[in-house]
Amino acid sequence: MRPPTVTFLGGVREIGGNKILIRDGPDRVLFDFGPSFSPKIEQYYVDYLQPRSTSRAKDLLEFGLLPAIDGLYSPDALGEPERRTSEPGVDAVFVSHAHADHAGYLELLHPEIPVHVGRGTRILLEAIESATPMRYGDHPWRPFDDGATVKVGRIEVVPFPVDHSVPFAYGFLVRTSEGTVVYTGDFRHHGPRATQTHAFFQAAAEERPAALLIEGTRAGPDPRHNLTEEGVRREADRLIADRRELALACTYPRDVDRLTTLARAAHAADRELVVSTRTAHLLSAVAPLFPAGVVPVPGTPGGPQVYRRKKRRFFTWEKPFLDTALDAEAVRARGRDYLLALDLMHFPELIDLRPPNGGVFLHSMSEPFSEDDVDDRVMRNWLDHFGLSFHQLHASGHASGPELLELVDAVAPQELYPIHTEHPEAFRGTRSHLALPELGVEYPVGAGRPGRSAGQA
Ligand SMILES: [Zn+2]
Repeated sequence: MRPPTVTFLGGVREIGGNKILIRDGPDRVLFDFGPSFSPKIEQYYVDYLQPRSTSRAKDLLEFGLLPAIDGLYSPDALGEPERRTSEPGVDAVFVSHAHADHAGYLELLHPEIPVHVGRGTRILLEAIESATPMRYGDHPWRPFDDGATVKVGRIEVVPFPVDHSVPFAYGFLVRTSEGTVVYTGDFRHHGPRATQTHAFFQAAAEERPAALLIEGTRAGPDPRHNLTEEGVRREADRLIADRRELALACTYPRDVDRLTTLARAAHAADRELVVSTRTAHLLSAVAPLFPAGVVPVPGTPGGPQVYRRKKRRFFTWEKPFLDTALDAEAVRARGRDYLLALDLMHFPELIDLRPPNGGVFLHSMSEPFSEDDVDDRVMRNWLDHFGLSFHQLHASGHASGPELLELVDAVAPQELYPIHTEHPEAFRGTRSHLALPELGVEYPVGAGRPGRSAGQA
């Protein structure tokens, strides 16, 4: 009989876009399904030139930007809405977390394929759909619980929560008939849930896995500054403590840890955090999944204020926040009392906020990947125009290169496959057998492989 196999259909020599197919006999499970951050897609599609909404999968398949698997896509996504749906091409899709590069293509999937996500992820995806144009599609959703085994035919999947820059992120132990495949998803262990990452890697090591599929975002050269989440807090405290004017910050609305850190830093400096209606909506949706008081929720003691942008029409989901929201004039009048989180796309508000010259701007997101990043240049132009001082304050969602090597050696898999990285060869320093994955190649699991001992490199 054929051994189980692992096939990489995305996330190979690129950051994001993981699409990992594990087969065991007739059973097929796909892990993650989103676009990568690599420039590959930009060879054909840019801001003004996008796949058609009536045939998104077809338009991406044309250039090999999606895996060509029969039965993987919905007739709608293929631009053939009248076509009878074929047999589903896989038995299940598991999503490690709610970032676009792992979940952003779910909408294209065949409507009968069950989609397994963490219970919290399901709520987060719903909140994102209700407050943005993002759509994840209608599927048989199968929310899973931490540590609870899910069986798909003969394949067993055990989801373990890990620390990442979005809550409800998971790594998986995938048990096949010839051994366990460990898939890390995206992770770090310098954030508030570091102990979860440790527990996952501990369990992975005990499994004596046949293969470890590890993300390597920060493997290889990484010139970007990285702090721990506590480090972000300390820096924020230092920068805003003695200031007498409005302080500004910019972060990802899904980075609940960062918003919590900024809310606490604001509180310690006798200020209140002010967030957008969208951030307020996401925080309110996920807060019930955390112990009381952990996530700062608008409208509760110590919770953030909400900012009301100048616009003509408000969405239904924004309305609960509007009665007590602060507009530009209110924030400007008492600038010293606030730390305002302002998304880059809302920078025109600065024209009414008129932040005093010399005020601090905490850039609490990752630095641009390239040196000629357009968004970065535009942001700097705005900051210069208003005389704001830029401070980079970020804790990455990913483990560092040296941390990755240490974790690999602790798990000691038979085969090591680095994915979600532009530098898979940076894993050469480990004691495990390194297999540099190639797109679309089927790799046998465990016994299917000629025997190898740890130590061979
Ligand atoms: Zn990712």
